[in-house]
Amino acid sequence: MTISNAFLIILSFFIIDLSSENLSTEIIRFRRFYSSSSSSSSRIVRAATARKERIWPEGIIPFVITSNFSGEHQHLFLRAMRHWENYTCVSFVPKQPHHKHYIIFTVDKCGCCSYVGRRGEGPQAISIGKNCDKFGIVVHELGHVVGFWHEHTRPDRDLYVDIFYKSIQTGQDYNFEKSKPEEVDSLGEPYDFSSIMHYARDTFSRGAFHDTILPKPSSGFRSEIGQRIQLSEGDIRQTKKLYKCLECGGTLMQESGNLAITHTGKCTWHIIAPQGHTIFLNITGSTLSKPHSTCFIEQQNVIMVRDGVSTSSALLDQICGDDNSFRTIASSGNRMMINIQSTLPSPIPFATYYAICGGPIYANEGVIQSPKYPESYPPNSDCQWTIQVDEDSQVAIEIVYFHLEQHKECIYDRLILSESGKEKDQSSETLCGIIETKTYVSKSNQLSLRFFSDNSVQKTGFELRFSKELNECATDKNNCEHYCSNIVGGFKCSCRVGFSLSDNGYSCETTCGGFLKSSNGSFSSPNFPAKYPNSKTCVWEIEAETGYHIFLNFTKFNVEGLRTECAYDYVKIGDSEKLCGEYHEPLIFTTPQNRVRIEFSSDSSVERDGFFANFIADFDECQYDNAGCEHSCQNRLGSYICTCNAGFILSEDKHNCKEGSCFFELNAPSGEINSPSFPSDYPKSQNCSWHFVTTPGHRLMLTFSTFQVEEHSQCKYDAVSVFDGGDSDAALAGVFCGLLPPPLLLSSLNELYLTFTSDASVSRRGFQAQYSSVCGGRLIAESTPGHIYSHATFSDSKYGKNQDCSWSVSAKNAGRGVRLHFSTFNLEAEDDCHYDYVEVYDGSEANPDMLFGRFCGDTIPEIITSTGSEILLVLHTDNAEEEKGFVAEYRESSRSTRRRISKIHSEVSRRPKEPINEQFKQ
Ligand SMILES: [Zn+2]
Repeated sequence: MTISNAFLIILSFFIIDLSSENLSTEIIRFRRFYSSSSSSSSRIVRAATARKERIWPEGIIPFVITSNFSGEHQHLFLRAMRHWENYTCVSFVPKQPHHKHYIIFTVDKCGCCSYVGRRGEGPQAISIGKNCDKFGIVVHELGHVVGFWHEHTRPDRDLYVDIFYKSIQTGQDYNFEKSKPEEVDSLGEPYDFSSIMHYARDTFSRGAFHDTILPKPSSGFRSEIGQRIQLSEGDIRQTKKLYKCLECGGTLMQESGNLAITHTGKCTWHIIAPQGHTIFLNITGSTLSKPHSTCFIEQQNVIMVRDGVSTSSALLDQICGDDNSFRTIASSGNRMMINIQSTLPSPIPFATYYAICGGPIYANEGVIQSPKYPESYPPNSDCQWTIQVDEDSQVAIEIVYFHLEQHKECIYDRLILSESGKEKDQSSETLCGIIETKTYVSKSNQLSLRFFSDNSVQKTGFELRFSKELNECATDKNNCEHYCSNIVGGFKCSCRVGFSLSDNGYSCETTCGGFLKSSNGSFSSPNFPAKYPNSKTCVWEIEAETGYHIFLNFTKFNVEGLRTECAYDYVKIGDSEKLCGEYHEPLIFTTPQNRVRIEFSSDSSVERDGFFANFIADFDECQYDNAGCEHSCQNRLGSYICTCNAGFILSEDKHNCKEGSCFFELNAPSGEINSPSFPSDYPKSQNCSWHFVTTPGHRLMLTFSTFQVEEHSQCKYDAVSVFDGGDSDAALAGVFCGLLPPPLLLSSLNELYLTFTSDASVSRRGFQAQYSSVCGGRLIAESTPGHIYSHATFSDSKYGKNQDCSWSVSAKNAGRGVRLHFSTFNLEAEDDCHYDYVEVYDGSEANPDMLFGRFCGDTIPEIITSTGSEILLVLHTDNAEEEKGFVAEYRESSRSTRRRISKIHSEVSRRPKEPINEQFKQ
C-alpha cells in the first residue's frame, strides 16, 4: 500500500538505510552535500534540470534480470512490474540492444535498495536481497525506480506524522529527515498514509513496542501505516501525474478487450500479452470523424497502430477516421500501442483485440510464456508453438519457471514437447507439476510445444527460453585437446588423469599429477618451491611391483590448514590419509598395497609453498608372519618396526609388548575417553592422566556418561581428579569417586587435566566421559599476545551455523587496556552485517553505545584499543552460509583516550535501502 506519493526526486541520490551504528561519517557527508549549494557541486547544478532526467522517457523502463535469480524470483519480479503497468502508464520491457539506460535486478551488498528515478548512466541496479523477495517490497523498490522517495520524508510531513527520535536505532535518524522543498515535488497530492512508500510505525525501531513514526492523532488516520500490499490510490494518481498519463486509453492485459474513445484529445492504449503470443486488433469500423485534410498527414482522428511499446516502434497501420472498412492487424511481438487524437468521443468501441497463444516461430532464440502469464493461465487453453531454428542445429529449451497442475501422468494440464508435433511420438516429453530446472534439446532443428489446460485447477503457468543449439563436440567447432562434453549453449573441455585444463579452457597442461610407474622418483605441488595456485587439483598414481609397498617421504610440507580436518587445501594419500598444515620434520608413509593415488587440491583462497615428496618401492617384510611382531608390524624403508596396542609399550626385544604407561595427550576439539580396560573393571594400581587442549579462545566441557569408582568419603582409594589447566599444578576442579557421576565441568581456558588413580584392591567398571569445545570465555590480556579463534575447528572447517559466542578480555594490570587485532577475517558478507557478524564493545557489556563496530565480509577490521580495562567480542552466525571465520590477537596495552568507531563500509552507497523490519508491515 504504500508507495507513492511521494515526492519526485530531483537529486540523483538517496538516503542509504544502513542499519549499522557506524553511520556517523556517511551522515555527515550526506548533509554536507545538501548544504553546499553555493559550492561548485556539479550535482547541484544538474539538479535544476533533474526532473526531466530522472523521469523515464515515455515511461518505458527496460530491465534485465541477472541469471542468479531462480525462476520463482523472475516470476515474482514480472508480477510486480505488471502491477505497476496495470495501474499506470509506465512500461517495463526486456532490455533491447538500443536501450542505453536500464535497470538490472541483482543482489547487491546493500540488500534491498534502488536508485530513485532514472540515473542516466547506463545500467542501474535494483537490488532484491535475502528477505526482500516479497511482492509488496519489490513493488516498493520499483517505486523508487519510477521516481519516488519515502513518503514520510515530504517537507510537509510534520503536519501529518510524529517522529519519535528516542525510539530510533542509533545512527538511523537520518532516514527520518525531511527533504527540502526544492528537492521533491509532491505534484499537489495530499499526504498519503496508505502509500506503499511509507514507513511502518516501527521501522528502524530500537526494540519491540517502540514506535518510531505514527500518524498525528489529529490527522484522523486510523489504519496501519507501512503497507506492502499494493499501490495506493494516491500512489497511482501521483504516478499518472508524474508521467503525464492520459485520461483516455490505458493498459490492457486481459486476453481480449475493447477500445473506445472516452475523452476528447489524445488517447493511448498499451496492449500487453505474454511472450509467444500474438495480438490481433480488429478495427470494427471507425466511429471517428473525418480528418480535416488527407489522412496520411493529418494526426487528428487517425488511428495509429504500432508494433511495440513506444512511439518509435514500427507503424503497423494507420486508419482514417471515416474509414468504415473492417480490418485485422497482428503484432509481431507481445505488445501493441494504439494512439489517437480524437475530436469526438464515442462510447462505442472502434476496435477489439485478442491475444492468441501459439503459432510458428522462426527465430534462433526467444521466450514463450503460458496464456496470461505471470497470472494463472485460463481453463481450456490449447496452444501450439512450432519453433524452427537454423538448419544443422537443434532447438534447446530451458525452463525458467514452470508451475502446472500436478498429476503423475500429466493427464490434466500439460505441456508436450515433441519433434513431430504429435503428442505420442517416441521423442515426445509431457511435463506438468512444478519444475525448477530442466533443459531439453531436440534432435532436429524443429520442435513443437503444445499446452493444454482442462476446465479446473489453474496454476501460474510457465516461461521457457528457447535457443539454437549446436553439438560442438560432434563437429570441428570445439578445440578441446583431450575431451569435449556438450552443454546447452556451448561445450566444456576436460583432460586425462595427470593433466589439468589450462586457463584458456581447451588445452591440457602437464603441470601436475600423472602416472608414475617406477621403483623411485619424486613429485611436488605445482610451482614448487613457489606458492601453488588457487583452485587446482592434481592426481598422481604410483604403481610398484607386486609384493612391494610404496614408501613416501614428504621432505617439505606446507599446505593451508591446521592438520586435522583439512577442509580447504589438502593432500590425500589413498582413501584414508588427508594432510594439511605445516610440518618441519619429514612426513613418512608406507602404503598398504603396491599402488597408491595421491591427490592434491587447493581451494579458491590462501596459497602456501606446497610440498615435495620422494617415493621408493620397498619390499614388505611385514607380509610374512607379521615379521615376528606381537601386536602390529609397520613396514619401513628397507626394514620394519613393531608397534603395540593402546596401553602397551614395546619390550626390549622390539617385537613383544608389555603393559605401559597411561598418559594421553588429546588435541582434538571433541572426543571421548575412558578408564583403562573399560567397560571391564579397571586394573589395580593404575596412575593415568589425560591432558586436553583445544583451540585458544574456547573452553573444554567434560561430561561423564558412566561413573563407577571405588567409594570412599574422601576418595582415598581410587579417584578421578580434574584440574582447571594444563597439569596437576593447576587449580583443582574436583576429586570424584563412588557411583555419583561428577557434575558437568567447564574449563576457564583452553586446557584441562584429568588424573585417575586406583589402589591395589577393589576394581570397578571405571568411567567413560565425553569432552567438547565451547566457544567464548573470560580471558586475561598480558604483554605477550593471546589468541581467539572463531571456532575450535578453525582452519579445518567453516564456523558452523547458529553460533553465539562472547569473549571478554580484560587487562592483567590495573590502569592498562586491551588491544585487539584481527589477523584473519572471513565472515559471510552483507552490507549491514545482518547475517553473520562480529561485534566489539568497549567494556564488559554489549551496550550499543559502547560499540566499536560490527564486522563481516573479508576486510580485516582496524586495530581496536579499549578506553577502559576490558573489551567484549561477540560472534553471531545465522542458519545459512558459513565461512572460514577469524583469528584475533589480544594483548595488554595502554588505553585509548577516546573510542574510535570502526567503519564497516569502505564506500558510500547512494541508494535508498530498505530496513529489513520495514517489510512485513501492513
Ligand atoms: Zn524504500
